[in-house]
Amino acid sequence: MGKQINVALIGNPNTGKTSVFNALTGLNQKVGNYPGITVEKKEGICKLPRGVKAHILDLPGTYSLNASSLDESVVIELLLNKNDKDFPDVAVVVCDVENLKRNLLLYTQIKDLQIPTILAINMADRMTYKGISLDIDILEKELNTKIAIISTKKNQGIHELKTLIADYKKLPVTPCLNISVIDPDYFKSLEDTFPKQLLYKLWLVISQDANFGEIERQEFDALKDFKTKSKADLKRLQQKETIKRYQFINNVLKKGQLIDLSKAKDLRIKLDRILTHKVWGYVIFIAILLLIFQAIYDWSGVPMDFIDNTFASLSEWANNVLPSGPFTSLLAEGVIPGIGGVVIFIPQIAFLFFFIALLEESGYMSRVVFLMDKIMRPFGLSGKSVVPLISGTACAIPAVMATRNIESWKERLITILVTPFTTCSARLPVYLILIALVIPQGRIFGFSYQALTLLLLYLIGFGAALGAAFVLHKTLNIRSKSFFVVEMPNYKTPLFKNVAITVIEKTKAFVFGAGKIILAISVVLWFLASYGPGENFNNAETIVSQQVASQNLSEDELNQQIASFKLENSYIGIAGHAIEPAISPLGYDWKIGIAVLTSFAAREVFVGTLATIYSVGSDDEDTIKNRMAKEVHTVTKAPVFNLASGISLMLFYAFAMQCMSTLAIVKRETNGWKWPMFQLISMSILAYVVALAAYQFLK
Ligand code: GDP
Ligand code: MG
Repeated sequence: MGKQINVALIGNPNTGKTSVFNALTGLNQKVGNYPGITVEKKEGICKLPRGVKAHILDLPGTYSLNASSLDESVVIELLLNKNDKDFPDVAVVVCDVENLKRNLLLYTQIKDLQIPTILAINMADRMTYKGISLDIDILEKELNTKIAIISTKKNQGIHELKTLIADYKKLPVTPCLNISVIDPDYFKSLEDTFPKQLLYKLWLVISQDANFGEIERQEFDALKDFKTKSKADLKRLQQKETIKRYQFINNVLKKGQLIDLSKAKDLRIKLDRILTHKVWGYVIFIAILLLIFQAIYDWSGVPMDFIDNTFASLSEWANNVLPSGPFTSLLAEGVIPGIGGVVIFIPQIAFLFFFIALLEESGYMSRVVFLMDKIMRPFGLSGKSVVPLISGTACAIPAVMATRNIESWKERLITILVTPFTTCSARLPVYLILIALVIPQGRIFGFSYQALTLLLLYLIGFGAALGAAFVLHKTLNIRSKSFFVVEMPNYKTPLFKNVAITVIEKTKAFVFGAGKIILAISVVLWFLASYGPGENFNNAETIVSQQVASQNLSEDELNQQIASFKLENSYIGIAGHAIEPAISPLGYDWKIGIAVLTSFAAREVFVGTLATIYSVGSDDEDTIKNRMAKEVHTVTKAPVFNLASGISLMLFYAFAMQCMSTLAIVKRETNGWKWPMFQLISMSILAYVVALAAYQFLK
């Protein structure tokens, strides 16, 4: 086997790099992060003609080699570092045929680094429609390279591109621009000091304040003496460079490109007028969102029930077939439900990303961002934060994953941190049962108090998200460029392949990224709830049987009593007792304490745990509700669930980060435990304080 060729796909955002990447690699791809930062790194393998293999890297979109964002520094740092294992043998600059002029700027810069560079002109299918014709021979001669005309949409030109990559050694490496022209004296002295170095590379090292790490340190040490220019001077020279490059490009395009404007019919203008309209734009967006959420609820309900039932029967089956003992219990009550708890999210994640990919692919998402940016910006969020925030009403997990396309790291981080405040569907069972218990039946202006309470809880969720975003925006000290969409892509029919790959990739990322953590915590929680220290736990059967001997219970009832007694004396039950002093100011007793602890697995577990503690056999809400209504304090005999404690609990669940799966996904998305821990601690403190205030005020 020969050596693998390293290929880097580079280009402006939205030129189709990822589509080309998908066309080249299919599903042979891996998505990770660049070390230390959360810029997505996509790499894959492609088989070229004659049995050669290529390692393809899909670099983040960049407009030029003058870094102004994290994403762009990734590209520059790679291109300047010959020792990087990903340093390209050949660069493929992907251009959009409709925006050749702007796209070629980056091409000329990369070419000037004397890296063999292929020009891939994409979206060729749009040429007739837009009245564009190209003279490839002239362009190849003027730009000094080989050109592939491709359309990933029509699957054209990909084979030609592969052949060009395989033949990369034949590509000339002559530069496009002699950089000296922007300041001859300065570059002359540079050249004299570093006769062996490439002038343009030196210039990039001097003019960028990107973090070059250990890039060929010694080689460039002497450059210190050349950092004599002021920031303003550097900027001015960079501008001069850009102008020179555009002069070159204009000249090339005058010879090799012809645009017949009369052919360009513009559906786009008409569509934009409606979709970004001050009123209709929002109406349409909200309507589309509603449709999407309806679809997610409707469509994922069936597979979710199926998954739920399958794993429940699997547990039952394991319990019945395997010999009883700790191993069976671990399998049936720890591992199987744990895996079920991961798999259950797949339908929602898949459907949400199916729709998001459609919106992005069609070009509509850019219009949404344009519309929403104005509203979100004051809160430190991006127009793109709207989708995660609203998706959060279904579930925070796909919502947090949906922040990936927010370019600015600060805006993305804030969105990730505040998304769990929105009222997700797992809070509903908790809210519904508590509302039914403590909120009176009456009506005001025809609206029931109970419905209004629920609405209020949703509003509190959104309000908390926006409020927290604002505070984080003012306090987080993160330098990160916030992008403003200058230009909108054209409307396009989505490429099915791109949509499918997005869905598969997101689902995989969740299952393998967060799934492990969710499974691990499930098993730990299972252990804490199924084991206990000391006599009480071990002899639960005997103790309970003796206690209730005179009561003539049915076998089911007896088993419920035993389960309840065991839970009380398990580790988690003991912890519930232990935290009672801390939570009694909130109006909770130790039983609620246990439910709060177990519901860290997932909020909806709260109801089930109370059912076990109160020895209610079924999971039926009415039964549990009646039992909860009868629950009284041991000493005072006052009902445990009253208005004050009920509202305190609802507010606690509104603010607390009671969800290990969200923590797991935040850890994955932010590349470490720092932010999920920050989120867990600050949200828990906030929840505690709010619940405390509410109870003390209302009691
Ligand atoms: P990236 O930002 O450079 O990675 O670009 P993407 O691969 O995400 O593509 C941006 C948009 O262009 C998507 O909506 C694609 O569906 C669309 N697109 C990609 N290739 C083609 C093509 O050959 N023809 C057309 N008409 N659209 C394309
Ligand atoms: Mg891309």
